[in-house]
Amino acid sequence: MNVLEELKGAETVGITGHIRPDGDCIGSCMGLYSYLKDNCPQLDVTVYLETPGSEFHYIRDIDKIQTIPDIKKEYDVFFVLDCSSLDRIEPFHSCFENAKKTVCIDHHISNGSFADVNVVDAQASSACEVLYRTLEDDKISKDTAACIYTGIVHDTGVFKYSSTSAQTMLIAGKMMEKGIDYSDIIDNSFYTKTYIQNQILGRALLESVLFYDGKCIFSLVTQDEMNFYGVTGRELGGIVEQLRLTEGVEVAIFLYQTGEEEYKVSLRSKKVIDVSKIAMHYGGGGHIRAAGFTANGAVHDIINNIGARIEEQYNALSGAENVE
Ligand code: AMP
Ligand code: MN
Ligand code: MN
Repeated sequence: MNVLEELKGAETVGITGHIRPDGDCIGSCMGLYSYLKDNCPQLDVTVYLETPGSEFHYIRDIDKIQTIPDIKKEYDVFFVLDCSSLDRIEPFHSCFENAKKTVCIDHHISNGSFADVNVVDAQASSACEVLYRTLEDDKISKDTAACIYTGIVHDTGVFKYSSTSAQTMLIAGKMMEKGIDYSDIIDNSFYTKTYIQNQILGRALLESVLFYDGKCIFSLVTQDEMNFYGVTGRELGGIVEQLRLTEGVEVAIFLYQTGEEEYKVSLRSKKVIDVSKIAMHYGGGGHIRAAGFTANGAVHDIINNIGARIEEQYNALSGAENVE
């Protein structure tokens, strides 16, 4: 698919991504916005997202992001990026519903092909990688390249997760050739944490619990703790990745409280367990090695249930080995 071909005859374009947007979501949405601004200045383009963190300040036009939907507007084409299902584009659902044509560009294994045109590659490292393939390289400016590079860096954990392919590196290299400040992008948007973020990371690690013979680890941040430190969920990124690095651990589980008995659950695995299966079982989604969902109930029940799903997968694996 070529984005410019899809837009033939269009005058108005809307773009959005998933709730609690991460680097890939912001990078892909702003990358497409920037590409259209550069190459189709006559188009009326609006990008809708929750307000991104200040670490993404270097992205051109980041301040143009709209946080409230224009419910009356009927977009000629409405793009949804880095998002596997429609329940994750709230509060911009009406823009999608009213659009004449919808396009989804994504890389989630749990993607349900909900748009008119779906460009989904579950093998791709990031939505930015899939987006890149729909753009013409010679029309990508330095500003667009900075967005695409941001998404790739964030969703590959700086080129280390198993979803990183030779193709990923090739695209990242092409973005570097556009003259972007790649060191600053990595340092400022990915690694730099505020003092408070480091404190809450330290606390989450201190209170983490190993279980299932050390193969699993979980940690929890309560709403009281978030209030104490004055942080929101957005500032807890990176904790589950650090838990995953614990020696001997296959699955890391991180929860933060979002309501009375409601938690946002993040799952990460190293080599064996398919966490997207577990997340999908609970109505969420994601990728084989990184997935998430919202859980209701008591923490120990949530952890026990996830533990049981992990055990099921281990049993199925050892059963398969015995058969061989
Ligand atoms: P997180 O743990 O929130 O960083 O998410 C890990 C991956 O799973 C990301 O690619 C998310 O887009 C995806 N994901 C997280 N929560 C959900 C959910 N409730 N439904 C579908 N996908 C999700
Ligand atoms: Mn994402
Ligand atoms: Mn992504």
